[in-house]
Amino acid sequence: MVVLGAGYAGVTVTHAIRRSGRGTIPITVVDRHASHILRTRLYEVGRLAAADGRDARWSVPIDQVLAHDRATFVAGEVTSVDLNTREVSVGDRVLPYRSLVVCLGSVAAYYGIPGAAEYTEQVYRFSGALRLSQRLRELARASAAPGGRPVRIVVVGGGSTGTELAAEIATARWDRIVGAPAPPFEVTQVVGSVPFLFGMAPGLIEHARRLLAQAGVRSIPEVNVARVGPGEVTLKDGQVLPADAAVWCAGLEAPTIVRSLPVGHGKGGRLLVDDHLEVPGQPGLFAVGDAIELKDSETGLLVPATAQAALAEAPVAGANVVARLRGGPMRRFTYREKGVVVSVGRGRGSGTFGGITVWGRPAALLKAAVDEEYAEATSRGRRAPGV
Ligand SMILES: Cc1cc2nc3c(=O)[nH]c(=O)nc-3n(C[C@H](O)[C@H](O)[C@H](O)COP(=O)(O)OP(=O)(O)OC[C@H]3O[C@@H](n4cnc5c(N)ncnc54)[C@H](O)[C@@H]3O)c2cc1C
Repeated sequence: MVVLGAGYAGVTVTHAIRRSGRGTIPITVVDRHASHILRTRLYEVGRLAAADGRDARWSVPIDQVLAHDRATFVAGEVTSVDLNTREVSVGDRVLPYRSLVVCLGSVAAYYGIPGAAEYTEQVYRFSGALRLSQRLRELARASAAPGGRPVRIVVVGGGSTGTELAAEIATARWDRIVGAPAPPFEVTQVVGSVPFLFGMAPGLIEHARRLLAQAGVRSIPEVNVARVGPGEVTLKDGQVLPADAAVWCAGLEAPTIVRSLPVGHGKGGRLLVDDHLEVPGQPGLFAVGDAIELKDSETGLLVPATAQAALAEAPVAGANVVARLRGGPMRRFTYREKGVVVSVGRGRGSGTFGGITVWGRPAALLKAAVDEEYAEATSRGRRAPGV
């Protein structure tokens, strides 16, 4: 039994297989990082810049996370998956499997926009968030020097990642972070043609908009990026936005290794799975998290690519992996969102729970509490209820 990826989906599915299989199924988990990255916190670039390399808030050592699973962890890059021979290559190593769960997450989608991949930063991976935080710190230092000017940042994307990041950069206390009188950053969010916080509740959107404006973030709606060059972002209407740094938060797609599997794919190369989280026509091949596309059979809606959804899918997939190996009925997955909170600047957020809108400080506290509960449970090798 092999699990590819040790993010939210991978570690939770591993816990679930151990539980459903009563600890008798040997599990091998593969990831390029020997730690579980808390990706939902990667927008915290101000905090990351202040942490100066101390990364405990954003990652948990994998041996802690898998402490109770008796799983074998293999650190390395998954380079190929052969569905015929049932083998996974991790560098020079070949791992045979009977059942496979693909939990390889997602990567930035650049849609072929010239310069986007080359000249923008991203916070979808820890290495990207760390790099951006270091760059922002250098820019803040330069702006605090005599003759320095405010730093100009362009965030591309009007979804939750773009919003959280834009507000974080605009409200971070760069003067305290660099210990010099750096002025606040000037942040522009290019929302693009997809509406701001598309798919979220109207109350959440309204308050998020208000908080972003209070944070001083300038918003440019309804126009997409045409190209990105060194120091500037050009929009389709001809506007040229000067940018000391541009950050790409405009979308995700499946990693190449997932896209190249010879099975059915949805948007962005995501794996199509049935409501058992199994790939049709491939008994024993399961997938969970950002790497899948699944339409909920009850609501007819696409299950979102969120950590919350991954944590809900994983126990069902884990039980079904065991059912497939041992024989037995499979469980059907249906998705019920518990609630959503978007962080909008230091100590502020906007969210919705059961139709009720929460915003401002209470929303931020709620997000912090849920987030902390996940980090705490995960670091003790326990399954966490949500993020
Ligand atoms: C800034 C930000 C904030 C977010 N906030 C929220 C939030 O508040 N709530 C929420 O529900 N969701 C949030 N999300 C979305 C959430 O992070 C993702 O939906 C979640 O990480 C998906 O889990 P996953 O396990 O599928 O993928 P991941 O968590 O990305 O895990 C995939 C794993 O696969 C590994 N991997 C990938 N390719 C390879 C390879 N070839 N070889 C070896 N290892 C590989 C990676 O190292 C990684 O550990 C946020 C995302 C971002 C970027």
